[in-house]
Order: sequence, then C-alpha cells, then structure tokens
Amino acid sequence: MKTTDLIFDRSYVDGKWTTEGEASFEVFNPATGEKIKTVADGGIAITEKAIDAADSAFKPWRKTTAKYRAELLEKWHNLMLENTAQLAEIMTLECGKPFTESKGEVAYGAAFVKWFAEEGKRAYGDVIPPHTEDRRLVVIKQPIGVVAAITPWNFPLAMITRKVAPALAAGCTVIIRPTYESPLTALAIARLAAIAGFPPGVINVVVGRDSAGMGKFFCESEKVKKISFTGSTRIGHILMAQSASTLKKLSLELGGNAPFIVFEDADIEKAVEGAIVSKFRNAGQTCVCVNRILVHEKVYDEFSQKLSKAVAALKVGDGMLAGVSIGPMINKSAVEKTQSFVADAINKGGEILTGGKPMGECFYEPTVIGNASREMNFTEDEIFGPVAPLYKFNTDAEAIEMANDTIYGLASYFYSESVSRCWKVAEALEYGMVGINEGLVSTEVAPFGGVKFSGQGREGSKYGIEDYLEIKYMCFGNII
Ligand code: NAP
Repeated sequence: MKTTDLIFDRSYVDGKWTTEGEASFEVFNPATGEKIKTVADGGIAITEKAIDAADSAFKPWRKTTAKYRAELLEKWHNLMLENTAQLAEIMTLECGKPFTESKGEVAYGAAFVKWFAEEGKRAYGDVIPPHTEDRRLVVIKQPIGVVAAITPWNFPLAMITRKVAPALAAGCTVIIRPTYESPLTALAIARLAAIAGFPPGVINVVVGRDSAGMGKFFCESEKVKKISFTGSTRIGHILMAQSASTLKKLSLELGGNAPFIVFEDADIEKAVEGAIVSKFRNAGQTCVCVNRILVHEKVYDEFSQKLSKAVAALKVGDGMLAGVSIGPMINKSAVEKTQSFVADAINKGGEILTGGKPMGECFYEPTVIGNASREMNFTEDEIFGPVAPLYKFNTDAEAIEMANDTIYGLASYFYSESVSRCWKVAEALEYGMVGINEGLVSTEVAPFGGVKFSGQGREGSKYGIEDYLEIKYMCFGNII
C-alpha cells in the first residue's frame, strides 16, 4: 500500500467515510509549517451519528466470541506492521517526531492490539464457594458498552490502540476522537481496521476542531458508557465534572511531573543514558518524560558535565531527515511555553549548561539547566519540552521528599547500585510507575498509569482489559 492510500480527509462512521456540513480544518506539518491536508470538520453532528452507530453495532458485536474478535485484532495488528513505513511517515508529518521514533511507535502501538487479542480470550470470571448448601455463586465479566476514546497528538497511534484494543477485545464498540492536530494517523488505522474486517459501527473515528463540544456530547450521552481519555490534567477535571450527570466510567491518563534521582552510588554513565532517553524522547513531549533531575551533591558535577555533553550532541531537525534525534515541537505556543520556563529559571538563578534558546518557530534546543531550585516554575508544572533541570540533594529522605512533592504521580525513575536502597526508594515513591536503573518503562505487557492528579485506570497488561469489563454476580438458588 502507498502512504497516499492511507491518507483520508473525513470522519469514519458506521463503516463509511462521512462528512457533515461544509466546515473543514487544516492539518499542518510542524517541521515545515506546510499544510498536509484539509479535513472535513464533523463536529457534534458526526459525533452523534457515530454514537448511534456504535450503539447499534454493540448488540451483535458483544455476542461474538472472544476468539473471533481476536482473529480480527490479529489481522489489524498485522496490517499495521505491514504498513509500518507508511503509518510512520504520516505520524512524522503531522506530529513531527523523528521517523525512527515513529516506526517505533507503530511497533509499540500494534503490540497492544496483539496483546489484547490474546488477553480477551482470558477475561475469566470466578466460581465462588457458596455461603449456603443450596446456592451456587458465579461471577462473569461482560463488556461495558460504547466507549469514547479521546486522544492527544504526542502518540497519535499508540494512545489509540492502548484504549481501543482492550475495548474491542472485551466486546465493546468504540468512537475515537483524535486531536485536530494529528487526526490522519487515526483515520489511517481506521482504514486498516476496515480491511481487517471489523463490522460497520464497531470502530468509528470522528474528527473536528470542537473538542470541548464533542467531549461534552460524549460525557452527556447515555449511550456512551465509558470515556477513556489521555491528555492534560486540566481537561481530565472537565471531563469528570461533565460526566457526573450520566455517572460515566472514566479512565484518565493525565499529566506527569516525573522525578529522575541519581544517587551517589549510581552508575553515572548508565544514568546519563537513561536521562537522555526518558527526558528527550519526542522532544520532551511525553507524559512520562523526566521533569526534574535530582542529583546527589557528591556526583552532581560529574553527572551534569556528562549529561550536558551528551545533550549538546543531540541532532535537531525535520524528523524525516536521517540522523535527527530531536524533531520540532508540536506548535509555536509549545516553543513559547518552553522558553518561558527557561527565562523563569534564569531569573531565579538557574545556569544554562547547554542549549537554552528556540531554533526558529517550531524547534527548541535540547537544554540542561544547572542550579535548579524549588522556586522555579517547572518544579510544579509539567515542562513538556526538551529542558532538563538539575537539582541537588544530600540525603535519601530529602530526595524522596522532593520527588513526592508534586500533585502528579505518573512515572518516576532513579539510579542506584544498592539493592536495599532500590527497594526502599521504589516503595516510597508515590507514583504509578517506577523505573529502577531504567529510563524507558512503557511496554504492552505492564500496567501503565498514574496516581494522584495523573489519573486513574491502567492501560496495557492483564489489568488493562478490566477497565472495559463489568462484573456480574449470578446467584443460583434452590439447588437441592
Ligand atoms: P490536552 O490539551 O488535554 O488534549 C488532549 C485531548 O483532549 C485532545 O484530543 C484535545 O483535542 C482534547 N480536548 C481538549 N479540550 C477538550 C475538552 N474540553 N473536552 C474533551 N476533549 C478535549 O492535552 P495535550 O496538550 O494535547 O497533550 C499533552 C498532555 O497529555 C500532557 O499533560 C501529557 O502529560 C498528557 N499525556 C498523558 C499520557 C498518559 O498516558 N498519562 C500520555 C500522553 C499525554 P484538541 O487538541 O483537538 O483540542
């Protein structure tokens, strides 16, 4: 298949490419500013149609066997892998990440589809020893119903498959609402789902600019039984408040403020490698990106020098060019926000060790800031850009207190060669995920998710399907 065979310009509803009204919006390449495609804006009208289609499709779909659903998911997975280069090109064009990272995301995103194809067959219930002689107690698991998935631009494929694959495997039908900034990857995988043979209405993709209106419509619809959202904590709050009237179930994968602790007994070379991977992937624009690097004062100088040298060597540019490891930021305002964090840090005594400036409209130099202090804005706020602040600490207790001193609780990382310290620190960190001597924790086989203001629910692993299943208890009486 050619890349152009996978580029679509309208919503996919009930098995058809559908427009509604005359409105449209443009999708841009953040690296060049060029328009990639004009896309029909479906808005609330198309959202309503998609909900109706998913609702009608749910009745027959839920009756299918897990084995049948797994076969379709396997075909979808294989089609994604067969079209890796095409999907990666679309992804790099619309969200800027380097082409090699985009190819990695296709593999990562497709892995969730395969995992849940298999996991759906194991959505076992329970037989409970009864409390009286004449009763038999059984628990079964059933699909929740119509699921709306609202997803961001930073992983235009994987954030979709982490939700949609378990939902479909469980027997739910779905409506995907990708951000207006990167709708093309979502539409491309909808095309592959159609080729795989998913019946009309089982997978729908609605595209439009009115995220607030479309989101509210999902929240207030009684046909939508669950919303799975990945994005900022601010929007997570809004969705939860709006869902009160329908008591909707919510999975929320929200923002983070990941600490990365380098203890005095750390392997410094490995810690530098881990910090590069976990800080600078996708130009610092992932929810698990390191936000604060806490370094023991005894190893601060060595770590800061080695990290700055490695960061200065990162190649910035258009993600489609060979050798580029840092692509553009998603838009101009992301660059401005990054610059405001750096300016604030300099005003408060921060020292630029490398980088520290925008590069044109959409790029930002990979940056290390020494002498970071708690007063600086990025201590509390998510940077979401390629800036690594270095803070000093003296004791383990101080490092743990600093690491936990945030409303967020998604990913955390630390480096130490002591087994005892590794256990103690890992248990003390108030985070959903802890990387111990490891900067990259995401995989389809392990539970991804946060605590505190980073959200609720888990994606991936054996736990990920539970978010899409209801528990039903059946009590058989009069067994005499
Ligand atoms: P965002 O502004 O919250 O947007 C996320 C999604 O929500 C987009 O599709 C957006 O659509 C939509 N949206 C915006 N306002 C809405 C509303 N009122 N109702 C319903 N939907 C609405 O987040 P972002 O800036 O794009 O993404 C970055 C954030 O996502 C960061 O905080 C990051 O940490 C978080 N994130 C979390 C995870 C995780 O797994 N925990 C993973 C990736 C990213 P439009 O863009 O079309 O307006």
